[in-house]
Amino acid sequence: MDLSVSSSLVRLAPQTGTAFVLHAGDTLRIVDFEGEQVADVALFAYNDDRDRFSPGRTIDYNERIVPQLGDVLYSTRSTPLARIVADTVGVHDLLLAPCSRVMFERRGALGHPSCHGNLSRALDVFGLGDDDVTATLNVFMDVRVEGNAVKLYPPRSRAGDYFDLRAECDLIVAVAACSSELTNNGRCKPIGYAIVQP
Ligand SMILES: [Zn+2]
Repeated sequence: MDLSVSSSLVRLAPQTGTAFVLHAGDTLRIVDFEGEQVADVALFAYNDDRDRFSPGRTIDYNERIVPQLGDVLYSTRSTPLARIVADTVGVHDLLLAPCSRVMFERRGALGHPSCHGNLSRALDVFGLGDDDVTATLNVFMDVRVEGNAVKLYPPRSRAGDYFDLRAECDLIVAVAACSSELTNNGRCKPIGYAIVQP
């Protein structure tokens, strides 16, 4: 990591989210400051935000459930949105939807903050909302398929681990520091991000 990246690193407080434009060729770096913290990332093509990240197409075209270094993230229209250009962890999730208010209600937790809510609110400035946040790349999240069961494990990320996505086209990106205690081994922590220009 060069100094220009670390000096521009932004800290997202626990259980919060943000959104911004990422231009083609720019790289988004996600940093786990303390370890064992997931970041949910939503991606939309800037030129037409109906064209948006598709975990299904991404799994299909890369022929794997867990995305790896060099893999491309594809959209609903099969547009290449971004490429994984650095990754110090190697375990991320494409299977689960972002945690939501209703998901927490189903567990008996009323009014719990959620990635869905935080991403939706952050995307409001781009005219996007609740119904647009349907799928995320869950950076550092460890979800495994065991037989026909889906099991959640603590993130394998340690303090200082990072994950880089380089935009293949102009994007609207939203990032949330995941709000679910269960996903983050008991405690919700901050997430760092930086935009690195080539
Ligand atoms: Zn979450």
